[in-house]
Amino acid sequence: MFLQGVGPKKAELLKKELDIETFEELLYYFPYKYVDRSKIFTISEIDSSMPHIQLKGKILSIKSAGEGRTKRLTAIFSDGTGYIELIWFKGLKYIQSFLKQNVEYIVFGKPTIFNNEYNIAHPEIEIYDESNKQIHLLGLNPAYNTSEKMKENFLNSKGIQKLVKNLLLSLKTKIPETLPSFLIEKYRLIDLDTALRVIHFPPDNQILAKARFRLIFEELFYIQLNILSLKNKRISISKGSPFPKVGDYLNRFYSDFLPFTLTDAQKRVIREIRHDLGSGKQMNRLLQGDVGSGKTLVAMMIMLIALDNDFQTCMMVPTEILSAQHFNTFKKMLEPLGVKVALLTGTTKKKERKIIHEGLENGEIQILIGTHALIEDNVLFKKLALIIIDEQHRFGVAQRSRLWKKSKPPPHVLVMTATPIPRTLAMTVYGDLDVSVIDEMPPGRKPVQTYHYYHNNRNSLNKFIRGQINNGRQVYVVFPLIEESEKMDFKNLNDGCNYMREAFPDLKVVIAHGRLKQVEKDDAMRQFVSGEANILVATTVIEVGVDVPNASVMIIESAERFGLSQLHQLRGRVGRGAEQSFCILMTSYKLGEESRKRMEIMIKTNDGFEIAEADMKIRGPGDLEGTQQSGLPFDLKIANLARDSQILILGRDAATMILDDDPLLTKNENLLLKERMRHLAIEKGNWGMIS
Ligand code: ADP
Ligand code: MG
Repeated sequence: MFLQGVGPKKAELLKKELDIETFEELLYYFPYKYVDRSKIFTISEIDSSMPHIQLKGKILSIKSAGEGRTKRLTAIFSDGTGYIELIWFKGLKYIQSFLKQNVEYIVFGKPTIFNNEYNIAHPEIEIYDESNKQIHLLGLNPAYNTSEKMKENFLNSKGIQKLVKNLLLSLKTKIPETLPSFLIEKYRLIDLDTALRVIHFPPDNQILAKARFRLIFEELFYIQLNILSLKNKRISISKGSPFPKVGDYLNRFYSDFLPFTLTDAQKRVIREIRHDLGSGKQMNRLLQGDVGSGKTLVAMMIMLIALDNDFQTCMMVPTEILSAQHFNTFKKMLEPLGVKVALLTGTTKKKERKIIHEGLENGEIQILIGTHALIEDNVLFKKLALIIIDEQHRFGVAQRSRLWKKSKPPPHVLVMTATPIPRTLAMTVYGDLDVSVIDEMPPGRKPVQTYHYYHNNRNSLNKFIRGQINNGRQVYVVFPLIEESEKMDFKNLNDGCNYMREAFPDLKVVIAHGRLKQVEKDDAMRQFVSGEANILVATTVIEVGVDVPNASVMIIESAERFGLSQLHQLRGRVGRGAEQSFCILMTSYKLGEESRKRMEIMIKTNDGFEIAEADMKIRGPGDLEGTQQSGLPFDLKIANLARDSQILILGRDAATMILDDDPLLTKNENLLLKERMRHLAIEKGNWGMIS
């Protein structure tokens, strides 16, 4: 980069700290806020609530004071309406050498009160130029994020501002437009050259808003265009294995073994998936359905269609407990049909593992259930054609994509999640997937009642537990387990378990957590599932998927330490039978505002989508659980998915409209788009390919 003021040292810092190497990247490094320099205030107007302000006046006296570390330089500054002290603690010599009396200065800084007097520490100061007054009215002044290292090397916010200013001044021609004119007209956007100049040095708020709109639109539009055109490409290249028929397995299951009538939503979703599987194209679909909506059954029936077409299929789940549970369900329901199901996890014994590997390679095993152990390279299938990923938000992108490579043509993929994410986020994070939604609960479910208790309400809580257990119900008690404070958490967990054992000496209390041996964990789960144990004390190992319909009480200890979607998942463990279920959120009396809000939302609604929206508002989209594991697949420079959902929808619509007309962007008028996408992809890697 050859730019005035950028030597090799600064160039290297820009690259290392901010990943800025080109003029374009510098121009797209946007300010994170603006400081108002559009006005000059008088000293008499100052009050302590003011942010940074500009003053115009003269220096009346200068003196240095203090010794060593308290050494400072002070100047009395006046504009005729009052006096204010300017103070410097650093760079004293330099400042003293240029400060003059009887010269008019413009001073910029934040006034603070000390000993009842106003002062400004380390103000920016420059000589007032009467002949060119306008230059002191800088309008909104940009502030840029920089690192400590950069600040040490004169690349602070001001430094970046100078670089950008120099760059903009040095450009001899307009910055070339990146959006085609039909979009600019349709959405009434300002041109790129203006937008970039304005975003760095806005003359006023109105035009700034226009520049922001244009740049946010551009960013979101290109993300959508990229995702959707990759999807077009994928569909045109990869043909999936066709599943033309529905045969004996599914038909017999449906007529003889289906334990309940499917809900309408389950039926609809199965139809949507069957349509994909019969189309000859590879399926890549997301199945969303709130906790307890019956996704497992849908998965099972789809898997039977694979068997009907002589293919193998597998299901990957995030925890051992869940894999064991699914394995048992599948075995119980499918073995009568003569289906061969196997379980493969990290703790499967070597000898057994070998038998499973063989069974998969010779095709004898038809359905494999497992944890991420099943992505290992030595797990090979004879004819794998359908992959199901349960609770997919627990897996990273890389893990998912390794499953893709297990067969050729690539297998159909169905990812299932109970962590609903807001629609706009889904469009972006899962933009490449088709989406099916189970928006209906199996009949007879009563909404879980949720209460917030403080720790000192133990006695009434225990009475309540006793009542439920006398009615034949079972109870979960969940403790947080966060890695940083593992020791404390384990102590809490064990203390909590002992407490329950003492409070209910006649009952069977079992414990489950990640550090137990597999057999111990299995044993605890088995006792709870069979109803032998009344109370299960556990960490969040039971968070996902676990299904014990007779358990009707979920007690969440230190609930303030869980995120909203985790609380919702945990609550989803109850309310699975016909009985009224309860979720009790236990917290300490002292609660932060955000935690209190979370408890309120939990009490107010059982709707996962509503909770996800609220969560996104509180935490911002980058931290949502649905995206934490995989992260957003791209950096957003200016858009914010929580705030800019309207613009996102415009961008998505625009991209859809263009691709409907020209799926591979070969028309002349779309050349610019293709060019720009290629450019962005080279710059940031392929941010559209995500599952
Ligand atoms: P999730 O969608 O959270 O994975 P599950 O698949 O575990 O939910 O289903 C929750 C419970 O609902 C299970 O006990 C399951 O057997 C039951 N279930 C599923 N479908 C139906 C249905 N159509 N009618 C009644 N119960 C159902
Ligand atoms: Mg499930």
